[in-house]
Amino acid sequence: MEECIFCKIANHEVQSEIVYEDENFVAFKDINPQAPIHILIIPRKHIPTINDLSPEDVELVGKMILIAKDLARKFEIAERGYRLVFNCNREAGQMVFHIHLHLLGGRAMGWPPG
Ligand code: 5GP
Ligand code: ZN
Repeated sequence: MEECIFCKIANHEVQSEIVYEDENFVAFKDINPQAPIHILIIPRKHIPTINDLSPEDVELVGKMILIAKDLARKFEIAERGYRLVFNCNREAGQMVFHIHLHLLGGRAMGWPPG
């Protein structure tokens, strides 16, 4: 996926503040943070939206959540609380079409989300 910004971040072709990476996943700080802690967790595999997931991706998605949980502890928001968000398509405000899990924390959050 040559034009995908998140594939480029995963391949280190575009600079970002990476906070975790392994063979299959990368996590990095959001360039436009919406909370004191705002990290994006992505798979290296290019999947455009949550709608494109298939049953074979179940482990991939589960691992994204486990990575988020570990990062919440590392960044000391696990006990206070945090929010995990997948935006899917236009009305949810998805801007980058490579699935990513937002980890947001460090401030109180409203509900329902805007
Ligand atoms: P979405 O709206 O698609 O759910 O979220 C995309 C997120 O990616 C936004 O919060 C946006 O600030 C972030 N983002 C977009 N481009 C870049 C980039 O080049 N680097 C980083 N670190 N974050 C980005
Ligand atoms: Zn991609």
